[in-house]
Amino acid sequence: MNATWECIVVGGGAAGLSAALVLGRARRRTLVIDAGAPSNRVSHGIGGLLGHDTKKPAEFYAEARANVAAYPAVELRAGFVASVVRRLDLPGSGPTTTSDGAPDTAASASGGTFTVILADGTRETTRTVLLATGMDYRRPDVPGLEPLWGGSVFHCPFCHGWEHAGRPLGVLDRGEMGVHRAQLLRAWSDDVTLLTDGPDELDDAQREDLEARGVTIDRRPVAGLDADGGALSAARFADGTTRPLNGLLIPVTLHQRSALATQLGVDFAPESPLSTETIAVDPMGATSVPGVFSAGDASISMPSVANAIAAGSAAAAGVVQRLTSG
Ligand SMILES: Cc1cc2nc3c(=O)[nH]c(=O)nc-3n(C[C@H](O)[C@H](O)[C@H](O)COP(=O)(O)OP(=O)(O)OC[C@H]3O[C@@H](n4cnc5c(N)ncnc54)[C@H](O)[C@@H]3O)c2cc1C
Repeated sequence: MNATWECIVVGGGAAGLSAALVLGRARRRTLVIDAGAPSNRVSHGIGGLLGHDTKKPAEFYAEARANVAAYPAVELRAGFVASVVRRLDLPGSGPTTTSDGAPDTAASASGGTFTVILADGTRETTRTVLLATGMDYRRPDVPGLEPLWGGSVFHCPFCHGWEHAGRPLGVLDRGEMGVHRAQLLRAWSDDVTLLTDGPDELDDAQREDLEARGVTIDRRPVAGLDADGGALSAARFADGTTRPLNGLLIPVTLHQRSALATQLGVDFAPESPLSTETIAVDPMGATSVPGVFSAGDASISMPSVANAIAAGSAAAAGVVQRLTSG
């Protein structure tokens, strides 16, 4: 079967666009299909991205798309990929079709194409697929949190700590990871409170460590977050009392945004506190399934725009290598 595309990139965020730029410059017929919801779109600015530090995400993505659009081999298309079906074109046997679930170890190094099916029913065929779908950042269910997410409520101090430095900051977590985050956040403020939302799950050594670092432990059950002018002003407790806060570091867990990785049968990386659903890749973004690559949050353990760009670039080189040898 002759595939229309040499690579279909699913997701046009930082990782997918970075990959598309490299693929376009390598003159590889590439289709980027993007649902248009990068994870940081609600954020006030991108913290810590060299050359674009604090730039509004919408501006950054518009510039990135313009970079990619300059290369005729690449098409950027708005849409949602509903499923990907792997076809095996085994030497001598004619085209055979696999279901979209089971990984087939009979896939030869040279063989296989993919049919990508969009939510609108459109079908496209490709020699390689690059999953750059990002992740769903699941947040604690705290009243008042959502409007503040990506601003004064954040999951990454490296991204958002600077903007809140020197002010009263909170960490919402009751266990070991809360200790770690509170220790970390002290680099940005002398006034850090660990909100355990009820009894803590710390041992004596952890409590003493936090005390020695000047971190307050507040065990009052949290009822919600108060805002003033669109920014966090206080944590509100079940007993009606409050604690003034200007920034809150919250725990998140990352989850695949769709079943594509599972459908394709890729291996996942070992469990971490951040995610149980990270796609396992080699340094060039290759997954355990021949012809399937991944980059960005979907397959890296430290999510950031810079890391997504780097991973996208490496995965594109991996795709080109495969197309060259296959
Ligand atoms: C609130 C917030 C603030 C952040 N702030 C910063 C920061 O300041 N600095 C920093 O370095 N990092 C920050 N990050 C992390 C950073 O945004 C991510 O690490 C980075 O955006 C990951 O890029 P990605 O391309 O892998 O995924 P994403 O940017 O999430 O892009 C994935 C794209 O794929 C699309 N997609 C998903 N599934 C499909 C499908 N089936 N079909 C078609 N398209 C699909 C999505 O709609 C999206 O457009 C922040 C994250 C969050 C959540």
